[in-house]
Amino acid sequence: MSIASTAAPAGLAALLNDEDALVAAVRGAELPALLPALAHLTGDLSLVDPALRPPLRLLPDRIEPQGGMAPAVQERARHRALGALHAFRDGGMVAAPDPDEAGLRTLMRFVSGDVGDEYLPLMAHELGLPVDAGAPGWTVDEVAPGRTLDVIVIGAGVSGLVTAHRLGQTGIGVTVLERNADVGGVWLENSYPGARLDTPNFAYSFSFAQEPAWPHRFSTRADIHAYLAGVADRFGLRGRIRCGHEVVAATFDDGTRRWTVRARRDDGSEVALQADAVISATGQLNRPKLPDVPGRDAFAGPAFHTARWRHDVDLTGRRVAVIGTGASAYQVVPSIVDRVRSLTVFQRTPPWMLPTPDYHEPIPPAERRLLRDLPTYHRWLRYYQFWTSVDGRRPFAEVDPDWHEAGSVSARNAALRRALEAHLRRRFGDRPDLLAKVMPDYAPGAKRMMRDNRVWPAALKRAHVELVTDPITRIVPEGVHTADGRLHDADVLIHATGFHASDFLAPIRVSGRGGRDLHAWWAGDARAHLGVHVPGFPNLFCVFGPNTGLVINGSILLFSEIAVHHILGCLRELLTRGARTVEVRPAAHDAYNAAVDAGNARMAWGVATVNSWYRNAAGRASQVWPFTLLDYWRMVRVPDTADFRWD
Ligand code: NAP
Repeated sequence: MSIASTAAPAGLAALLNDEDALVAAVRGAELPALLPALAHLTGDLSLVDPALRPPLRLLPDRIEPQGGMAPAVQERARHRALGALHAFRDGGMVAAPDPDEAGLRTLMRFVSGDVGDEYLPLMAHELGLPVDAGAPGWTVDEVAPGRTLDVIVIGAGVSGLVTAHRLGQTGIGVTVLERNADVGGVWLENSYPGARLDTPNFAYSFSFAQEPAWPHRFSTRADIHAYLAGVADRFGLRGRIRCGHEVVAATFDDGTRRWTVRARRDDGSEVALQADAVISATGQLNRPKLPDVPGRDAFAGPAFHTARWRHDVDLTGRRVAVIGTGASAYQVVPSIVDRVRSLTVFQRTPPWMLPTPDYHEPIPPAERRLLRDLPTYHRWLRYYQFWTSVDGRRPFAEVDPDWHEAGSVSARNAALRRALEAHLRRRFGDRPDLLAKVMPDYAPGAKRMMRDNRVWPAALKRAHVELVTDPITRIVPEGVHTADGRLHDADVLIHATGFHASDFLAPIRVSGRGGRDLHAWWAGDARAHLGVHVPGFPNLFCVFGPNTGLVINGSILLFSEIAVHHILGCLRELLTRGARTVEVRPAAHDAYNAAVDAGNARMAWGVATVNSWYRNAAGRASQVWPFTLLDYWRMVRVPDTADFRWD
């Protein structure tokens, strides 16, 4: 049975028999996704006519609507689409078989152009065709009958869920230890007002659990958390997850070649579990970082971090101070501005803003209906969103060594800068005092950029809001002192000051072969081969580990899926060899990390000296991936067995 014929046939029939709704749905559709979805449904590949192809020009600061299709081409495309839907209805609504490989390539190339063949497996994985293209495709019983393998996963956030699911598909024994009371990781913990995705949502979902019913293009935290909880339910993961278990230590035993993991339960008691392998899915942004300011704890009123939001503190009519202007502050400030008496926002470094007019917009009902009722439309929409972010703005952040203009790293980066400067002038032109404060002096791409749909500028312009750029010198019971000698009175203090992103696996005590202490060995500068393996720590794997964060392109969910595929490849190799442990060879680890460092030195975030959470205390960009998504796919997905010792 084809994937098209399995989805919502009743809904599709109802849509096809309601001409007004059908016309509205086609009008509301993203045509670069609609045409391949219809070709998929009907088998009529002429619908992906090269003459209708979206040019997908990536402008410095945005992607054009409808992939840049000219208005006349859009009209032709809608006409073709409507005709195809009518013909499908009148022909008895028989869905075509899924396209063969050549057909699939034709559909994919309609969206992504004459992309090299090497991209196609990656893109087919994201499209989810064949369905669950990323499934392991093997089981323990098949590769090593009679053998068992037990794995402990630390964390049930985004990375932990995909890890638990994929391991479960192979029959490996999985126990997930999660310190919180529920799954969801950062999407559980960050409950501050306004929390939502700032990357397009269809691409921010698992390839194996694609979701047609997102209400927004950039979903709210509640919707994403519900999605993740739904994944845990739908794939039967809850039975493997022990919530309220905070891992405090993991120790490798050289004799038994097994790991002992100690976890503290909510009631304070400790439990010790043993396993053949440990997978850390602890994430990067889960340990709140409070500002390093004298008197921090002296504040008399409630003071809390955005990721530990105090829902019991009513901000109505209060004088509120927010420290920080990163992604969290950008969402909090506009969400609370209406109810507070005064709002003082302390900015140390202004971020660049990317124009995103539809950031908070719901998906219009006509398109939601199409998403629900037209099989595969949501997959092709995901494919389209994903393709536009595969390399995304990455080329705009590449350093040209011959470029010497301050505040940019290449001609392309300077063009992006000019577009973003113009955007800031449009937003703050009526307030020169604010414009001077919010204009960054560093290259775009050196720090994370913010989404702008006017709510941040509008909030800063309110009469009861002040943006303070004088450095904070001290926190006192009444408020915050700045270097100009002012005291900014406040009743409530909110730290939107980010996370200890570079302290991977902290504060867990991890002890490897011969008692090697992970944190002592890293000495504050975490490194891992492929972001996964650390020398001296057999059968310890990281998902979303060092140097796997993304600044400007792609999806972190894909990275986690790729890393898990790699780990499964290692575990399968262990089973087939009859080995017990896998450990990266130091030479492979060192060569890889040298390449990553050299790569980051060619990117805006690697050369700029501006503050950012991408770099650790040693100044190394230890969080972020410098290359393309395809590079990660090629380098990581399938382990190179020569890089490891198998004992
Ligand atoms: P962040 O980007 O690290 O921002 C922290 C802010 O606090 C910065 O403006 C920083 O200034 C400021 N700050 C820190 N210490 C300070 C001090 N002592 N005095 C004055 N200012 C100080 O943290 P975040 O906003 O929580 O975001 C972290 C990451 O989480 C994001 O980049 C993103 O990856 C993720 N996130 C995602 C979403 C989403 O998808 N919707 C939402 C929120 C967060 P400097 O810039 O000078 O360091």
